[in-house]
Amino acid sequence: MATAFSRLALLRPRTLDEALRLLRDDGPLVPLAGCTDLYVGLHFGTVPERRFLDLSGLRALRGLRLRRDTLVIGALTTYTELIRSPLVRRRLPMLAEASRWVGSAQIQNRGTLGGNVANASPAGDALPVLSVAGAVIVLRSVRGERRVPFGSFYTGYRQTAMRPDELIVAVEVPPVEDRQWFRKVGTRAAQAISKVVMAGVRAPHPAIALGSVAPTVVRVPRTEAVLAGGGTIAQAQAVLADEIQPIDDLRSTAAYRRRVSANLLAQFWSETGRSAVRRSAAIRQGVS
Ligand SMILES: Cc1cc2nc3c(=O)[nH]c(=O)nc-3n(C[C@H](O)[C@H](O)[C@H](O)COP(=O)(O)OP(=O)(O)OC[C@H]3O[C@@H](n4cnc5c(N)ncnc54)[C@H](O)[C@@H]3O)c2cc1C
Repeated sequence: MATAFSRLALLRPRTLDEALRLLRDDGPLVPLAGCTDLYVGLHFGTVPERRFLDLSGLRALRGLRLRRDTLVIGALTTYTELIRSPLVRRRLPMLAEASRWVGSAQIQNRGTLGGNVANASPAGDALPVLSVAGAVIVLRSVRGERRVPFGSFYTGYRQTAMRPDELIVAVEVPPVEDRQWFRKVGTRAAQAISKVVMAGVRAPHPAIALGSVAPTVVRVPRTEAVLAGGGTIAQAQAVLADEIQPIDDLRSTAAYRRRVSANLLAQFWSETGRSAVRRSAAIRQGVS
């Protein structure tokens, strides 16, 4: 019986060099990591390609480590690994938090950070975090390695700066100086694509990024400037409304996304303020 999965070819390189040579010489090939996004596309017939490059055997794309002060996250790192990693919990708790909200335990066990970045969905939950953290995407081809700042990686709706012969090998995250914040709003707590997702870092200059409100995940520099300059939250919300371009689609409406974005901005600002942080520290210490 012919199915959507008939006549597919899967190439299984054992080393990164072999994978990169196959991409150059034997393409076009679609890289395949946890397959959680690709499987859906294959099932619904939106992935026309028939030949795939299985990355799962590539040890060079695995693991989390500190290189001097930079957190280096291998592209094949799964959400479960991010949630469990003491390094991530200490240095980038908003990424551990975002990972807890992805799909379900099954998706967290298979889905990878590299896949979330490469899939280029404006709703990708890890992406606002990488944006405000000033992450760098590390790309490799047989020609060598290049580093693309997160802010230059997406060139349009589901378009990236990645070339067909390149793979994401890692994501590098510099130290994040201040309080981190993440919140996803979806239809329910699990298995829900976000209606709006936001990540923020409070200081030294507020950094705020949102997903599901524009063709790509976006930073909102004019809103950030209002808050940095001591403007009120109402002023910042008014600027934010002008800075995002949400649409109506099957998951939500533009009006709802605007309202929720404004509410999340206020929540971010109040929950990361000095008094709020002092209050929660006191609560943690059992002082009321
Ligand atoms: C039921 C379900 C629930 C989900 N829930 C969420 C959610 O809550 N939040 C969310 O953000 N996402 C969610 N997703 C989407 C998906 O799980 C994530 O985007 C995941 O991170 C994709 O990783 P993967 O390894 O499975 O990617 P794959 O499906 O293997 O690949 C995705 C894309 O990235 C490319 N790719 C993968 N790795 C590389 C690489 N190293 N270099 C170059 N290209 C690469 C592939 O060619 C493909 O185009 C959900 C998916 C499902 C099926």
